[in-house]
Amino acid sequence: MNCHTCGNDLVKVITDLPFKTDIHAIIIIKNLPVMQCGNCSEYLIEDQIMQKVDDIISRMDRGAEMEILNFAA
Ligand SMILES: [Zn+2]
Repeated sequence: MNCHTCGNDLVKVITDLPFKTDIHAIIIIKNLPVMQCGNCSEYLIEDQIMQKVDDIISRMDRGAEMEILNFAA
């Protein structure tokens, strides 16, 4: 898979990423596997990973302003 911005190879990295789930709510998912470009700062989340992220977000406590979860858990 290649970077859609610069065409460089994407490498799989494990990182922590914040996702906005509401106007005032943020979820930080730790140990998330993403495909990151070695050349620019562009990254891509694979479809099956994104589905899991959606799943995690849908199970988030609606009253919380910020939550930190481990992807692997
Ligand atoms: Zn790139």
